[in-house]
Amino acid sequence: MKATCWMGPNRMQVREVPDPKILNQRDCIVKITSTAICGSDLHLYNGFLPMMEPGDILGHEFMGEVVEVGNRVSNLKIGDRVVVPFPIACGNCGACEAGATSLCENSNPNAYVAEKMLGHSPSGIFGYSHLTGGFAGGQAEYARVPFADVGPLKVPEELTDEQVLFLSDILPTGYMGAEMCGIQPGDTIAVWGCGPVGLFAIASAYMLGAEKVIAIDRFDYRLKRAREQAGAITINYTEVDNIPDVLKDLTAGRGPDHCIDAVGVEGHTHGLQYVHDRAKQALRMQTDRPIALREAIMSCRNGGTVSVIGVYTGLIDKFPMNAVMNRSLTIKTGQCHVHRYMQPLLERIQRGDIDPTFVISHRLPLDQAAHGYKIFNEKLDGCEKVVLKA
Ligand code: NAD
Ligand code: ZN
Ligand code: ZN
Repeated sequence: MKATCWMGPNRMQVREVPDPKILNQRDCIVKITSTAICGSDLHLYNGFLPMMEPGDILGHEFMGEVVEVGNRVSNLKIGDRVVVPFPIACGNCGACEAGATSLCENSNPNAYVAEKMLGHSPSGIFGYSHLTGGFAGGQAEYARVPFADVGPLKVPEELTDEQVLFLSDILPTGYMGAEMCGIQPGDTIAVWGCGPVGLFAIASAYMLGAEKVIAIDRFDYRLKRAREQAGAITINYTEVDNIPDVLKDLTAGRGPDHCIDAVGVEGHTHGLQYVHDRAKQALRMQTDRPIALREAIMSCRNGGTVSVIGVYTGLIDKFPMNAVMNRSLTIKTGQCHVHRYMQPLLERIQRGDIDPTFVISHRLPLDQAAHGYKIFNEKLDGCEKVVLKA
């Protein structure tokens, strides 16, 4: 089959690789019809995650048709059309039973190494380095889906791939970002980052009752989409001196009720240095630039929530704990527990509360995945979200 492989930083290549096989009786094999490139894939593209090996198959946002099922998967059959959540979760451990599937304790065979190396052990994740288990991803013609009795969601025939594909990751992620804020009617929410995740955070904040959402980015075409498609008020951060001051001006001097960081590691890669901390045997990141997360903390009104859905790798220096403590802020964060949001968000799509296709800017054949990565990473050609058709 054809698959998008990581061959080194900035080197993605569609190559011929062996077809996946059932390895465990709780697996299924999905023939992929649509898959997407995520902002998280850009961290691999840019070489921010260790434990990638040339030839690793990328992709954690995918859907398609079940073509093979293991003996112990009784809820799926050949021919079912499914969308697959990015965290791989067993369904039986304490974390899974609590609905925190991105913390599944049984799905990442390399959890111990991940914890030693970076201080965290997420669940297994498709196509996301050996740190998260080394599972082959779904930017390919076929994928093996472990714990297929737990993850894949069957989708109704009347919905198109593009309407449901983002249930795999970014729609639940944006929604969780807004939900973690505990929004009350009338609240003002600020969102850093107008990538696809930020756009879904804006749309979700409105769905959950926000009165006003203010969105921040540096790309005018993305800010335009945030205004016109998601209803945000926008700020181009390259055109203002100080984001917290501008946000205070827009909120009667108090700051936004809650702040969402939908940027992550990209927010401080300018001027970034990796430092190897010998004592901790870990990588540490250092930068002196204002970063999205710090701005979110410094802008948030007293008692508000800073919800962090942008992905961080390594440690962040100069974290303003003084502001967090003295202003009674709450910080909430996590890899999205996608499983818990799929069915309720599917129902919202069916009711017409949200049409997730508004984030798509590019539809490309799988063969052109490398081009998709380049334009998404460099924000070329108005790129907001790339969907690949296998
Ligand atoms: P993206 O690269 O398309 O969007 C990031 C946006 O942030 C860009 O538009 C960029 O211009 C903007 N940005 C950069 N620095 C900024 C700053 N200082 N202030 C304001 N905006 C800034 O990526 P995406 O697909 O939207 O993903 C966003 C983040 O969400 C990534 O870190 C990704 O890894 C993460 N993510 C997390 C989860 C999760 O489970 N928590 C799931 C999916 C994606
Ligand atoms: Zn993702
Ligand atoms: Zn589990």
